[in-house]
Amino acid sequence: NKQVILKRYPEGLPKEDDMEVTSSAKLKLPDGYGGILLKNLYLSCDPFQRALMRQVTPSGGAPFHCCTIDSPLFGYGVSKVLDSGHPDFKQGDLVWGITTWEEYTLLPKPETLIKILHTDVPLSYYAGILGMPGMTAYAGFYQLCNPTKGENVFISAASGAVGQLVGQFAKLSGCYVVGSAGSKEKVELLKEKLGFDDAFNYKEEKDLKAALKRCFPQGIDIYFENVGGKTLEAVLLNMRQFGRIAVCGMISQYNVDEEEGVRNLMQLVSKRVRMEGFNCLDHLHKYSEYLDFVLPHIRQGKIAYVEDIVHGLDSAPSALVGLFLGRNVGKQLIHLSD
Ligand code: NDP
Repeated sequence: NKQVILKRYPEGLPKEDDMEVTSSAKLKLPDGYGGILLKNLYLSCDPFQRALMRQVTPSGGAPFHCCTIDSPLFGYGVSKVLDSGHPDFKQGDLVWGITTWEEYTLLPKPETLIKILHTDVPLSYYAGILGMPGMTAYAGFYQLCNPTKGENVFISAASGAVGQLVGQFAKLSGCYVVGSAGSKEKVELLKEKLGFDDAFNYKEEKDLKAALKRCFPQGIDIYFENVGGKTLEAVLLNMRQFGRIAVCGMISQYNVDEEEGVRNLMQLVSKRVRMEGFNCLDHLHKYSEYLDFVLPHIRQGKIAYVEDIVHGLDSAPSALVGLFLGRNVGKQLIHLSD
């Protein structure tokens, strides 16, 4: 049973050798065990996994604890049930949810897993558009941003797992949509494939405030925040009266010991802007509503989903580290088996 274990808690940017690819004995379901044995098909790389590579579990209601040294990492994945001692799961079921970074996983409490019922779409989608990132984009955009037709929407980390969906949802709502991303290739993807009205490479802009002013001469109504830091400071100066900022994440702050201070917060007051954080886990009860909404759009080709898939557990440490270097183009996944 090949696995990826945590060797040490990373300092700053995680490094590949903070993890190790190793093997454990073959797993089988013990007699009388009430859990299940999974074969993992796809593993998902998500920025929140950095927060679990610490000695103290971060607050925020994650349904799991931080990783322990010499134990497998964990995260979201798509898996097949190989054996089950749990009444709700049977051999052959396909599921998505939290699993370990191993070929096979023994899961004592499988209750949080969600069964996959629609298999006419790629299975990998259940770690992306049909999984946690999809629910994040759906809840964050529709619940927190209250979009109306014609509004101006800005999204950072726009080509990633969540951002690319928020942009497409905003277009479906009749908004004007601009995204920022960290390379020319990503900017082209946003404009050519994902239907954004405009996009820019934030690494090439000397003055982010001016870049946003150029893209939004009338200002921003909705900002979907994925990165924090300098981008947020520039956005605050470009917000319109009664704008909304959904704070999904701030990846620029995940590898620093102490968060950067953010300037320009007084803009919230003078412009009556609402800024609100959220956790997708609080919205999972809307999952079937989300599927009813998104599946027809996928089947009709009205929503695209860009994935960046590497193969095998040996590629897993580098794929995870790559999220914090912007190496991933679209949703970062590790394919283990069909
Ligand atoms: P992505 O697929 O977008 O991958 C991360 C991307 O972030 C990278 O590709 C890179 O893109 C960008 N990035 C990395 N480091 C920096 C930096 N220092 N400054 C600016 N950009 C950076 O990830 P997700 O779509 O999965 O996640 C996006 C955000 O959403 C994250 O903040 C994540 O924590 C958050 N999130 C929050 C959830 C919630 O419930 N609130 C749930 C899921 C995700 P680029 O090349 O464009 O720089």
